[in-house]
Amino acid sequence: MNNRFYPNIIPSLHSHVTDKEMKSVNGMVVHAMSEFIHRDALKYTNGYNKVNKTFKNKPLLEYDEWLDAEYYLHLVGLSANFLIYPDGSLKILKKSNVITYHAGVSKYLNWTNLNDDFCGVEILIDGKNHYGAFINRIKNEDWVSENQYKTLNYILMMCEKENPITFKHVIGHSVCSGDHVRGKGKGKRDPSEGFNWKRVNWTNP
Ligand SMILES: [Zn+2]
Repeated sequence: MNNRFYPNIIPSLHSHVTDKEMKSVNGMVVHAMSEFIHRDALKYTNGYNKVNKTFKNKPLLEYDEWLDAEYYLHLVGLSANFLIYPDGSLKILKKSNVITYHAGVSKYLNWTNLNDDFCGVEILIDGKNHYGAFINRIKNEDWVSENQYKTLNYILMMCEKENPITFKHVIGHSVCSGDHVRGKGKGKRDPSEGFNWKRVNWTNP
């Protein structure tokens, strides 16, 4: 029955990413992020100066306090190929073979800077979460919904079809950008131990 599942596809509003293609898509990096991110989080990102420049002397942002994930990524100059919403809805920001900016400083097997070789998926944790709350919530298994696993498995199947020879590796962000790569306390921890890899229809070779 699993292969009969089709996620609800929702349109992407905007994306600053150009359509630069990878030489080959070797796999996918799985991330977690909050569905809504408080605008104060912008202060801790590389995008903060860029955003300030854009808005000149006006207050940082006159929008809502909480920015939705796609808009937040856009503001800070990050991106992903896919977003999976808490109800399992899928937003395809870019095709699997387009370079997006999700992994940052990263290393895995013989690859460094995995953005050039791996597509990225953000699995969104429902609601408004400050960073501390987010880190705590992703440790528990209940943050990923049934439909999110189904949608992830759907896009893995799609990616493999699109890149049949090369698409071989599906890894968590912490595997390629953890403390062992970025230094103690600076590493990424998503999608964290609450993400159940047994639910993913994939085994790395
Ligand atoms: Zn991540």
